[in-house]
Amino acid sequence: MTPELQKLREQLDQLDSRIVEDLARRLSVVDEIGSVKAGGDDAIRDITREEELLTRIVELGQKSGVDGFLLTRIFREILDYSVRRQHQELLDEHNPDQRSERVLKVAYQGAQGAYSQIAAERHFSPRGTEISYRGFRTFKEALDAVRDGETDYAVIPIENTTAGSINEAYDLLARMNLAVVGEEVLKVEHCILALEPVPISSIRRVYSHPQALVQCSDFLNSLQDCHVESFADTALSAQHVARAKDLSQAAIASEEAGRIYGLHVIRRDITNQKENYTRFVIVTNQPMKFDERIPCKTSVIFATRDEEGALLKCLKVFHDHHLNLTKLESRPRPNTPWEYLFYVDFRGNVGDPDVQAALRELTTYTSFLKTLGSYPSRTTRDAQPAEPKRPPRKRTERPAPADAAAIEPAVLKTLEKAPYKLVSRATRAQDTTITVRNVTIGGDRPVIIAGPCSVESRDQILACAKFAHEIGVDILRGGCFKPRTSPYSFQGLGYEGLDLLEEAGRLFNLPIITEVMHPADVERVAQKSDILQLGARNMQNFSLLKEIGQADRPVMLKRGLMASIDEWLAAAEYILAHGNQRVILCERGIRTFETATRNTLDLSAVPVVKERTHLPVIVDPSHACGEWRWVPSLTRAALACGAHGVMVEFHPDPSKALSDGPQALTFDVLSNLMEQIQADQAIASGEA
Ligand code: PEP
Ligand code: MN
Repeated sequence: MTPELQKLREQLDQLDSRIVEDLARRLSVVDEIGSVKAGGDDAIRDITREEELLTRIVELGQKSGVDGFLLTRIFREILDYSVRRQHQELLDEHNPDQRSERVLKVAYQGAQGAYSQIAAERHFSPRGTEISYRGFRTFKEALDAVRDGETDYAVIPIENTTAGSINEAYDLLARMNLAVVGEEVLKVEHCILALEPVPISSIRRVYSHPQALVQCSDFLNSLQDCHVESFADTALSAQHVARAKDLSQAAIASEEAGRIYGLHVIRRDITNQKENYTRFVIVTNQPMKFDERIPCKTSVIFATRDEEGALLKCLKVFHDHHLNLTKLESRPRPNTPWEYLFYVDFRGNVGDPDVQAALRELTTYTSFLKTLGSYPSRTTRDAQPAEPKRPPRKRTERPAPADAAAIEPAVLKTLEKAPYKLVSRATRAQDTTITVRNVTIGGDRPVIIAGPCSVESRDQILACAKFAHEIGVDILRGGCFKPRTSPYSFQGLGYEGLDLLEEAGRLFNLPIITEVMHPADVERVAQKSDILQLGARNMQNFSLLKEIGQADRPVMLKRGLMASIDEWLAAAEYILAHGNQRVILCERGIRTFETATRNTLDLSAVPVVKERTHLPVIVDPSHACGEWRWVPSLTRAALACGAHGVMVEFHPDPSKALSDGPQALTFDVLSNLMEQIQADQAIASGEA
């Protein structure tokens, strides 16, 4: 090492020590605040305060040249950890007899490095006490250890967002007399691990837990001449590969397991669905009490009585007590063929008298009822750390009719003759809202979709995504399959582009939208894109409409170049009639005699469509006018006349864009436009 490098590294070491010391000081203040809150009745979490804190940090970062996105990630982790520390304070206060100074023992299933162990560490580390983790061969053995007092807790996976419920865990919880006192959610990022950094094509045997094999089935199917074998757990399969010393073998497990057993990561993130999470429950012998200020969930198991409408009656009890269900699952009742146990999770705390009343009432309609326990939620929105404050945006206008009776008679008359039913306000009076990740389209806050016309390269789409995230864009667009007038123009990067778009969206926490042109592509594009776009030229491609109607993904249906409003709504009807109710309409300009603009933006469609249908409508001024200079005013006009959002194209260097360069905004123009939108909104809502 050169002396220069050595010196710089020493500098880094000193800075890192300072960061750690400051973090320690921060945590001790967090603990003090925790004690104050435990003694009083202040809210434990104050989302507004968290948002303001993050906004301030991002601003501070801007001044010091530190990336806001990096700071947000770091500080959200710190906030999450801090909240858990304060929950712990309350837990001790409410369960004084369970407070313990000795080493806590936690059981999990699997070998060292198993996902269950990672989840357990995540859950218990904010306790600040010493903890010993012990792996058991099976779920049953881990749970027996808790029952017999050998360990204090067990951590058991209960469901995975790709592969579904883990039946054995459910069955054991129904049978054994244990209490669920916590849950943990872990993002599972499987890796393929081998002894040496060998090419994937040389792998002949892959070992892993059956659940992991299911979650990575697409990757496994792509391997040639490769034998797949299940193993008791992921970490054990890594250990097995390490011991076998055979270069043709590989395991699917965590990166952590790879590190423990000295294996190389051959490829990361090989799950079918990138958003792959496992939920674990924390189990012990005695139920625990949780402060009412902590958002809790409760899990119960019940069997209905053998009478008509029994399940409905049970569910009505939850409804009557305003208890929101977060999960409903049924499993065969052991030893009684064709009878079922229902597993229900709902928001609520058994410490609450109303929840107790609901559970009492439930016994009237059940032949078996068991409360597994209440515990702080990790899955509901209120359990997630805040995001930096988004600039408030609000449409100010007449509210949607509450029911058909509130629809104006003249509108109803038009709707009677309309060539559509399901999209009609007469069928559903209230506005339809569509939520993708944490963005709601069709609600009070207009949504800004922005991105390049086409995904051109990794650098290009990452730069766009990063900028979009920074200035408060809600959804990232990017074409991968391009409908081009000339066959000699750039046709898009296809699935390769989609992978890049997905990566960019994931990295910057933005939902993505991309066009799908062929019915055969719908299923595959729907696996990656949060919203499917059906382009103007395909508005009456009925096979495509039908196929998209069968996909479980929101769709943005663009108005055809020559389509009347009712033809456009009738095209939307195709999608709804085939099952998919999540349709967003997009006005993007129509052909008129005018040639000065690429098309003519028909803003009158916005109020008309909003009268006739409950579906949200957004406006794309970029394709309508074809010139970047006109896009800002048309965007503002679209929002002023009540569009639920806009979609605009932008590019790091419009002069080099492979498609639609002339209409692409530069970063600067887009950023100004975002500020103008903000100012318009403030005026409209009377704040300025
Ligand atoms: C697009 O948005 O990428 C596009 C091609 O638009 P349109 O279908 O409206 O022409
Ligand atoms: Mn375009």
